[in-house]
This record gives sequence, C-alpha cells and structure tokens, in this order.
Amino acid sequence: MNKQKLRIAIAGNPNSGKTSLFNALTGAHHKVGNYPGVTVEKLEGVISRNGRQYHLIDLPGIYGLTAYSIDEVVARDFILDEKPDLIVDVLDSTNLERNLYLCLQFQELGVPVVGALNMTDEAEAKGVRINEKTLSASLGIPMVKTVGSKGKGVDDLLDCVDALNDGGLRETAHTVTYGAEIESKLEVLQTMIRQDAAFIEKYPERWLAVKLLEKDADAYERLKEHERAQEIAAFAKEAVIWLDKHFGKDAEIVVSEQRYGYIRGAIQESLQIIKAPDFSLTEAIDRVIMNRFLALPLFVLVLWLLFQLTFAIGQHPMDWLEGFFTFLSDALNSAMPDTLFRSLLVDGVIGGVGGVLSFVPLIVILFCLLSILEDVGYMARAAFASDKLLHAFGLHGQSVFPMMLGFGCSVPAVMAARTLKSQRDRILTVLITPLMSCGAKLPVHVLLAAAFFPENPANMVILMYGCGVVLSLLSAFVLRKTVLRGEPTPFVMELPPYRAPTVRGVLWHVWEKTSRYIKKAGTIILAASVLVWIITTFPMYEPSPEEERAFAAAYLESNPGADEEAVAAYVAVAGEQLAVEHSFAGRIGRFIAPVFKPMGFDWKLATASVIGIVAKEVIVSTLGILYRVGSEESEESEGLRAAITGDPHMTPLVAFVFMLFTLIVPPCLAALATIKAELGWKWLGFEYAFLLLLGGVLSAIIYQAGLLLA
Ligand code: GDP
Ligand code: MG
Repeated sequence: MNKQKLRIAIAGNPNSGKTSLFNALTGAHHKVGNYPGVTVEKLEGVISRNGRQYHLIDLPGIYGLTAYSIDEVVARDFILDEKPDLIVDVLDSTNLERNLYLCLQFQELGVPVVGALNMTDEAEAKGVRINEKTLSASLGIPMVKTVGSKGKGVDDLLDCVDALNDGGLRETAHTVTYGAEIESKLEVLQTMIRQDAAFIEKYPERWLAVKLLEKDADAYERLKEHERAQEIAAFAKEAVIWLDKHFGKDAEIVVSEQRYGYIRGAIQESLQIIKAPDFSLTEAIDRVIMNRFLALPLFVLVLWLLFQLTFAIGQHPMDWLEGFFTFLSDALNSAMPDTLFRSLLVDGVIGGVGGVLSFVPLIVILFCLLSILEDVGYMARAAFASDKLLHAFGLHGQSVFPMMLGFGCSVPAVMAARTLKSQRDRILTVLITPLMSCGAKLPVHVLLAAAFFPENPANMVILMYGCGVVLSLLSAFVLRKTVLRGEPTPFVMELPPYRAPTVRGVLWHVWEKTSRYIKKAGTIILAASVLVWIITTFPMYEPSPEEERAFAAAYLESNPGADEEAVAAYVAVAGEQLAVEHSFAGRIGRFIAPVFKPMGFDWKLATASVIGIVAKEVIVSTLGILYRVGSEESEESEGLRAAITGDPHMTPLVAFVFMLFTLIVPPCLAALATIKAELGWKWLGFEYAFLLLLGGVLSAIIYQAGLLLA
C-alpha cells in the first residue's frame, strides 16, 4: 500500500544525531547536545514534499527495546504501541556495530526501516569508509549516508523513504537466524503465538518469540494480552532453562551473540579502512582532562573562568543598556506632563521591564559559552569526572546533566532527570535541581553584587553559584539519609567524542534562551511591573504640611545650612517615600515584614520576595519600581544600583542574605508546575516546604551571625 501520509519515527542510539537530523528535516530547532539524554520527550513535526505528507517523530535515544528509564519507555512504547509506518534509524557510523544491534531489532519488529548512516564525516575522518550499497544488500535495509549537523543527505533520505513507500512498504525477507537450537524453540513459540490473530496484529510473532527467550519482562507483560498467554509463557520459560543448560550460558547472551555475529558479517563486507587511525587526539586530551586528580579542580576552574569571562565581556554592554533606559526615562520625564500615565510608563514599565532587560547581554554571553562547552563534549566529561563526588553525597553521576541545565532554567533541568533509571535517583535529582542558580536569579545576584561588592562583583556571583552547588549536594546527602534512603545506582555512560561546536547549534541555543528571557520580560514581568506600580501608587497620599515641615526640619538638623533648593528636593523625595509607605504595597509590605525581620529584610525586600514567587526576574523589576518611585523629583534619575546603595537600610550583609534567600527559596511557578508534573503533588509539597524552610532558616542564621560579628 502506497501511503500519502506517512508517520515516521526517528529512532536510534543516544547521541547518534537524531535530533540534528530531525531539525534538518523539519526546520525545527530543538535542543541538540553532545551527550546522551538530551531529548527526553518525543518531538513532532510535519513536512510536505512532492505532494506527500511526512509526520516525523523524534524519539529519545535507546540501546534496545528493553526500556529502563522514562525517556526510554517513551521511545519503546511509541514504536510498539503507536506503530509508525516507518522507522528512520539514525546510526552513528563511527560505531556501527553497536548501532546496528538496535536496527536489527526494529527489523525483527516488522516495521519498515531506513538506516541513516549519520556522522559519516567523522567516520571518514577516522579513516573508515562505508559502502552503503553493500551494507543495504547484506542487511536488507536501505541505507543512506547523512551528516545531521550539516543537514547533508536529508533529501536522499526522503527519496529512500519514498522508494520504500512506493514499493508498498514491504518488509524485507532478511532476518537474523539464531542457530538450530534456538530456531527450533522459536518455531514452536511462533506457532503458538500465531493462533491469536488479533494479537499478532499488534506484536509480530517472531519478535515476541525472540523477546520471550531473551527474558524481556516487558514482553511477558505484553504477552498477557494473548488468549493462550499462560501456556506460551510456560513453554518459553522451559525453553529458556533448556537453552541455558544446553549452551552453558544465559539464553539472552546467546541471542545477542548471534546478532552480533550477523552484524559483523555484514560490516566486514561493507567497511573499508582507508587509512590507519591517526594518533588519537581525543585520548591525549582525555588523559589530562580526565586525570583522576586533575579532573574536578579543572572543572571548577573552567566554570570559574566561564563566569569571569561572562562578566568581563558583559559588563560594558550591560552598562550601556542601563544608560539607555535611564536616558529614556529622563527623556520621557521632560517631554511629558506630570501625569499618572507618565508615572506608569517611567516608573512602572521602564523601571521594571528595563531593569530586567539590562541583563540580556549577560544572558547571551553566559549561554553562548555554556553551549560551546556542551557541544565540544566537555560537559559529558565533567559529568563523568563528578561521578565520584556526587556518589559520595548520594547522587548519581548522571544527575550532573540536570544540575548543569539548572544553571539555565529549572524547567528543562527537572525534565532531564527522566534519563535516570532508578526512581529514587530521579526524585532526588529533581528535588535538588532548583538549588542550582538559574538564569532568572542571575540578574538579582548581579544587581546586588554590583551595588554592594563593587570590588569584584563577579566573584560574589560565582560564590552564589557555588553556594547553590554545595547546598544541593548537602541536601542530597540529607535526603538520602532520610526520605529517600538507598544507594545510588552505578553510572555507566559512554563519553562522546570531542566535536567542533556548530555555529548553528550554539546560535540557536543562545537564541532560545535569550528570546525566552525577553519574552518573559514583555509578558509576565511587564504585567507584574504594572501590578506593582498600581499597588505602590494607590491609594494616593499627599503628605500634610506638618509632615513636610517635619521633613525639612529633620533634613536641616543633619545638614545645617543647606540651601532652600536642597531642602525642597529632600522634602519631595521623602514625601514620595511616605506616599509609597501609605500605598497598598507599603501596607502589605509592613504587614508581612515581621516574618522577614529575622533575616534583616525591610518591607521592600519582603514585598519583592513575595512577588518573586511568580518569576525571579520580577524581584529586580519590583525593586526597580519600589526604589525609583520619587526619583523623578531629584535632578537626575540614578540607576537602580545607586538607589539601592543609598538606602540606609541596605548593608552588604542584608544584600548577601537576600541573594542567598533568593537562591534557595522555591523556584518560579513554571518550575513548580514542572515538578508537579514530574513527581506529583506530594513531592511538590515536600519540595516547597523543604526549600522555604532551608532558605528561611539559613538566611536568618547568617544574618544574625553577621550582626554578632559586625
Ligand atoms: P541525539 O541524541 O541522537 O538526538 O543527537 P543530537 O542530534 O543531539 O546530536 C549529538 C551531537 O552530535 C551534537 O553535538 C551534534 O552537533 C552532533 N552531530 C549530529 N550529527 C552529526 C554528524 O553527522 N556529524 C558530526 N560530526 N556531528 C554530528
Ligand atoms: Mg535528541
């Protein structure tokens, strides 16, 4: 049957380039990364070509059809339950033997397969040439050479899909044969399975028979749908025992040996080594980078340099942007009459959103650098190097990927924990990930560090990142000893090769992060800014003449002989301040302030923290509004930084504690929603209480200790 609409699954081993190919095919820009476990959900896209429609589904990577972790289950269930019309199996050409292992299982499943021989550029650089025609012929699977990261071979691939479709998507006659003993058992099993016609519509008899001999738990589970399930299972179990005895080893090992033998035979005829591999640069570099003693210190150094570099490059553009917004405020202030609308525009919108937008350069640079490290293959090595350390705290080596992603945003980071095979490891990783300082906390930290630790704000911000990491490790340790008792499972991962980062990949990664940040500024933060402006402006309050006189007297007392103009300016600012204190925000702030008192927060910081529940950037915009109100009366509006530094209540200690508090307390609503989706209400509640308590108690202790020391 020739189909006009094809559902094509893009499947294959982890890190073989599936998402790169999917992006090249569909023009989408999903995240690609040089380590396994980047794609944890299926991604879909539809394209049309020559009047045909292709519905493409990019799946998480798998090694076989036996699934362990959530992302693997997503891939397996899609292939088994939703039955794509065709599978494009993306094969890493530098590692064909292992990649073909999965390919054969797809073939056994009876779904038509096209092999994409991806990474042929790397294979050739290593001196290996593949004859795809011979390989196709000996396996009975059409093969096409591709380079996913450059979008090469994409058209050939679709041509090949079309050819298979035109031929009616017939399955090929080729199959692995497993030797006389196994085949005889398979034959009996297949005959029994075939008796339920409805069942073999769903699961091909041969595939299931082989899986039963492989003792695949999921296959036994699926077998239950068969009308003679018990009988078949009993026979299969007996056969397995017989085979184990006969071969002197497990039946599934015999099955996999046969498969590998078959693959080796096919490869032998179609692989040509054209030159001996060069001296391996990868190995030489890894000998240093992965050195037992050097690896971790090196990783810390790399991260430190990364952040230092980010600030060194980002400082000036950030200042320019801040200057631009100040200029804009001044311009509007002098061009427009003094109305509520002007105040909304200048104090609310520019003061709030502008403050957040000033940090865009930093975000761009940070994610550019992180993305390069990731693409090159360094992050995967860092994960490997961190394994021992993480293990000591009860975490799994693989937890490092979600944790790293947490530097960006907790939402994808929490989802990335799906690659962890053990449920406990996964829950633990999700729970500690929000402690990693995300991109939205960065502006808060930078603002306060620049204001109160001007000698070296970068180090202060790095300290915050460090605190996040240390706290996450300690929390993991405590949780492991209490609510999530157990040992972390061992870590097996193959290291990806070093690769030159692709410009396209890095740019898209950066764009994705930056555009999300800007979009947030234009939506959530804008809305929050307007709201904050409203609650700081209403109900309106006019200081009484007595109050004004009191301000003037107070000012003259501390500045004897000040001229009239200075007194008037002070009275105006103090009056505005008084008005804010009488506004809703001031009243609410003062109402909640006692709770925050042990940490040294005044009502402004308290208000900002509470509103920051929505999104952490909102803390910056809220402070911007709370501190800007009244600034239009002074000669020139100074930056938010200067305004905060000028507040007598704000000391470096308070600033530090506030940064720490912001780092620890529960993440934004989006992250909370993701945690709920991944772990459910119970764990969400636990996480919320845990982080709130940790943040509150720790901040209070540090503030009180700081007061004592001072
Ligand atoms: P997935 O895990 O299978 O989805 O793989 P990705 O699409 O995320 O790619 C993994 C890594 O391989 C990324 O660093 C890609 O840039 C890189 N990559 C993908 N295809 C090719 C290719 O054909 N050649 C080379 N040299 N690199 C590739
Ligand atoms: Mg992927």
